[in-house]
Amino acid sequence: DLRVRFCPSPTGTPHVGMVRTALFNWAQARHSHGKLIFRIEDTDAARDSEESYQQILDALRWLGLDWDEGVEVGGPDAPYRQSERGDIYQDVAAKLLQAGYAYESYSTAEEIEARNLAAGRPKAFGYDGYDRNLSEEQRAAFRAEGRKPALRIKMPDEDIAFDDLIRGRIEFKAGSVPDYVIVRPNGDPLYTLTNPVDDALMRINVVLRGEDLLSSTPRQVVLYRYLIELGIAQEMPLFGHMPYVMGEGKKKLSKRDPESNLFLHREHGFIREGLLNYLALLGWSIGPDRDVFSMDEMVEKFDIRQVKANPAHFDIDKAIAINAEHIRMLEPQDFLNRSLPYLQRDGVVSTDSWEELSPREREVLSAAAPLVQPRVRLLGEVSGMIGSLLSQEDYLEPDPDARKQLKESAPAVLELAEQALSPVADGDWTTDHLHELLTQALVDEGGYKPRLAFGPVRVAVSGRRVSPPLFESLEIIGKDTTLRRLSNLRK
Ligand code: GLU
Repeated sequence: DLRVRFCPSPTGTPHVGMVRTALFNWAQARHSHGKLIFRIEDTDAARDSEESYQQILDALRWLGLDWDEGVEVGGPDAPYRQSERGDIYQDVAAKLLQAGYAYESYSTAEEIEARNLAAGRPKAFGYDGYDRNLSEEQRAAFRAEGRKPALRIKMPDEDIAFDDLIRGRIEFKAGSVPDYVIVRPNGDPLYTLTNPVDDALMRINVVLRGEDLLSSTPRQVVLYRYLIELGIAQEMPLFGHMPYVMGEGKKKLSKRDPESNLFLHREHGFIREGLLNYLALLGWSIGPDRDVFSMDEMVEKFDIRQVKANPAHFDIDKAIAINAEHIRMLEPQDFLNRSLPYLQRDGVVSTDSWEELSPREREVLSAAAPLVQPRVRLLGEVSGMIGSLLSQEDYLEPDPDARKQLKESAPAVLELAEQALSPVADGDWTTDHLHELLTQALVDEGGYKPRLAFGPVRVAVSGRRVSPPLFESLEIIGKDTTLRRLSNLRK
């Protein structure tokens, strides 16, 4: 049975690449009815933070990516935070040393560099294997100097190859990967040890991760072989390395890039369905000419072997367009409930709970939903659309863009509109009637082109150049407020 894992290091705020990794692992687990294990790789106390851990949890929960074993939910291999698994790593390191798969290394970085220089080797050569064959006397002499050893893994003198699920056969030439450190001189275990050890103990059989980790795979393959020899691991997992995500100008999307920041996308009003759909396209496709789909559909169709190896491009405009499609698919009440936190944030309402709104607010929002929902691409745009409908202000200061719409004829147009609307009985204040009346007064009789006729009315009642459909808006805003806004913009 498939066992995959998501194992981020809690440094910084969740980013697009991290979430794409989580999504693909989740989709593969759900597709195959396997298990997703969620582990936290927090062995680097200087860089890891509790805040980052909480943010990763927040991100996965918001997105609805659930896991079967791991932090917060527990499971047979707990604990799932590497900072709590120190004894396990110590134990495995001791066994590797004992078996001769690892050895003590006393060389300092300076000594390694000096030896490479003296031997005419390039700077990037790295560690030269010097400590492999130290005698017991030499080691004792180093210890007498007060040195503490790092532990290094012995790389075999042979090519290392594996079949990547996405990239096919990958080969590393013998000698191209130096013996590497798994435990620091101060006893801290490194990612190079903890990651494969936990994959082994948690019986992970497919490792899906970003291309940036491809260079560490030959080291892990070798360590895995040793773990199998020692009876700690059962079998070598399969590996699949997902393509880089590129940003603007053919550069890798960096974690520090604002476009990479998951929570920024949420603040702008991506909904989870839209964002996940877009992230799924970063390397995968559900079929030709098809961009919009649900997570159920993704789970049904997903196969990691169909992921493309070439870099994926993060295209924010496309992401927004896909989000708009998903917003349109929401039930109107769901749309409203999800918009409330944004409306509250923008000061349009004072609560994000539907029940706590006033009856009038609920009525206006329900009437406005069908006008607004098809016209926003991000929930962050709802406030601007709905604010003028909810507000009972008698005057809305036009934004600069709207101000430019007001031509010389605007005061006269507004006056005509006011005259036409004043006599309307409350019972006749309906979209169709208002449409008819204003068309007649401003266009047919007034002789204004529709844009010059309705533009100023729109600006008066909404304060904006773009707003929900005008006559529907007038109906929602009501007669009194409409008339006052028309007259106040004129003054
Ligand atoms: N903790 C590693 C990272 O966040 C995970 C690498 C892996 O998936 O093997 O980069």
